Amino acid sequence: MPPNFGFVIDNRSCIGCHACSTACKSENEVPLGVYRTWVKTTEVGAYPNSTRHFQVTRCNHCANPPCVRICPTEAMQQRDDGIVEFDHRNCIGCKACMQACPYDAIYIDPDSHTAAKCHYCSHRTDIGLEPACVVVCPEHAILAGDMNDPQSEISRVLASEETSVRKPEQGTQPKLFYIEGHEVNLRPTLTDRTPTTFAAADVMPLHDEPGPIQIGGRTAGHMVQVGYNAQHKVPWHWPVAAYLVTKGAAAGIVLVLALLWGGMGWQPTSEAAAWSASASLLLTVITSALLVFDLERPERFLYILTRPQWRSWLTRGAVLLIAFSTIVGLWAAGEVAAVLGLIPSETAEAVRMPMLWAAAPFAVGTAVYTAFLFGQAEGRDLWQSWLLAPHLLVQAMLAGSALLVVLAGLGTGLEELGPPSLQILGVCLLVDLLLLAAEYLRRHATDEARLAAHAITRGRYARMFWGLVIVLGHGVPAALCFGPAASYGIAAGLLALVGLASYEWIFVRAPQEVPNS
Ligand code: SF4
Repeated sequence: MPPNFGFVIDNRSCIGCHACSTACKSENEVPLGVYRTWVKTTEVGAYPNSTRHFQVTRCNHCANPPCVRICPTEAMQQRDDGIVEFDHRNCIGCKACMQACPYDAIYIDPDSHTAAKCHYCSHRTDIGLEPACVVVCPEHAILAGDMNDPQSEISRVLASEETSVRKPEQGTQPKLFYIEGHEVNLRPTLTDRTPTTFAAADVMPLHDEPGPIQIGGRTAGHMVQVGYNAQHKVPWHWPVAAYLVTKGAAAGIVLVLALLWGGMGWQPTSEAAAWSASASLLLTVITSALLVFDLERPERFLYILTRPQWRSWLTRGAVLLIAFSTIVGLWAAGEVAAVLGLIPSETAEAVRMPMLWAAAPFAVGTAVYTAFLFGQAEGRDLWQSWLLAPHLLVQAMLAGSALLVVLAGLGTGLEELGPPSLQILGVCLLVDLLLLAAEYLRRHATDEARLAAHAITRGRYARMFWGLVIVLGHGVPAALCFGPAASYGIAAGLLALVGLASYEWIFVRAPQEVPNS
């Protein structure tokens, strides 16, 4: 049987000296500002009855590691001996592993711009040595070893002591066990969310949500302070929100056309077909550019195709996007060539519907695959919603119809598409409102999802959510679509796009701000 390496941290012995953090930095040449291991410190109680709790924090070398599943290039790997290792030579810097890890264990190395974390000092383990942190600890508070060997010290300790792990409900099966792990350290949502509230700061309120927190049967409100912590980051920013909009609009244009031309038997002119196919193609190009731009190592973007890891929805999504843009590109080229008189218009007409029907399933895939990608991002609980796939499909139709309405209003040869697209936009806005209500009125299963939803509807994003997304981005354009002022199509389309972009920004941002350590 191969070994199965794990860690035990004995909190009865840890004195919070940070020698493990320092040894790790030295052994692995970890740059300033990032950490493979650190000693989280939390103080509980009010003077003179306060206690200090340490937690050596690092990668758990999960038996079921989501960081490995989401990695599109096999840069993150699980070895046969259970160590979760990384290979910086394969990393494209997509930061998906940081979203997948529910423990804030991964960082982007500021020198190599690739993902890194505790790797169990595998270079030492491979030659029979213990990790540097184990050797340096003056209290023997860190045990490392083979959990498959019943004679090893770690196996005997695990058999005889009560231990706990961080977030067992995530199903990752962490292999870093704490003896006397304290709840305030194990559950980061119990303490203040501001990463700068270190020891010198004032005692901070604990929770976004009202009501005192119970720890060990005592009310702990305003008595818990994080003294030291590290590592929490927001890895995805505006390019990911923008990508959701452009990708949705590209797919949505094709889906709206399939509905109008295929489902409702409407006959397009050559100009309408050329403009709409070209708009969809341009949006897929912008989508790809945004994705590449967001990589820490953009020059490696082709690794997704040359070193693919097929369980990752980043890889699958890239293939879907390429297939979709290829079909739409061929279709747009044919339509534009016909409009310019380079090929007979009969040829373009003959292939129009087959091209549209070929593109439609890939449009659905392009719109929806992000739900599965976000589902693999297991460190962000609000993204784990079963509503996300239908929501993305409706958002795509919303974006596509809004864009067609705007282009029609500008007189681009799409005028005939204006009125039916406006009706589709109105329906999409109403369905989207229902999906938003279903997402945010329900009770979320975890603290992390609850805190993110709270930030959106009642916290720091509430004004943007209610003002820009709900009222200006849904209510007003829906009224313009169905009301007597239907001639204000451009305004309805633009407002709907602004509302969608605002929502994507909030939805991408808020779950990442909930700390996992
Ligand atoms: Fe380590 Fe996080 Fe991956 Fe688990 S999910 S193996 S803690 S990096």
